[in-house]
Amino acid sequence: MNDPTEANLIEWMSAVLEKGWEGVRAGQNPFAAAIYTLNGDPVTCEYNQVNRTGHPSRHAEVCAIDRACEQLKRTTLQDCLLISSAEPCPMCAAIAGMTEIPRIVYGAPARVIEQADYGTLGLGCHSFFDSANSSALIQGGILADECSQLLLQNPKR
Ligand SMILES: [Zn+2]
Repeated sequence: MNDPTEANLIEWMSAVLEKGWEGVRAGQNPFAAAIYTLNGDPVTCEYNQVNRTGHPSRHAEVCAIDRACEQLKRTTLQDCLLISSAEPCPMCAAIAGMTEIPRIVYGAPARVIEQADYGTLGLGCHSFFDSANSSALIQGGILADECSQLLLQNPKR
């Protein structure tokens, strides 16, 4: 099992960004997330579905993790990465932790989520995992400018 390269991460984040814009066109909040296996196989890619479902927990990361578990017919994802257009909020970080995802990669930092008027509860993903009993590897800044634009051009109304 080879670690994904920076080029892999950029390619996967591009797909996530495209999904985020698809969500915006469908009237959803500007967030998207994907699950890939550590071998690089795509599993799921979802946009935020809070508006569509009326369920406040349907963040993109939750949608991607739930669907990945459905598809893989298990409730842990130790062999997967979570790729998110923005820094996961505490709820999404918790679900990533509960499903034992070993690596989380995101684009826009929490500060930009706040700038676009979406809430983060003031607890970043790094702080969450620092406090949690988890060895997950967290990496931000992949296509950060493009991911930030997805948020800043579609602020909360
Ligand atoms: Zn979230």
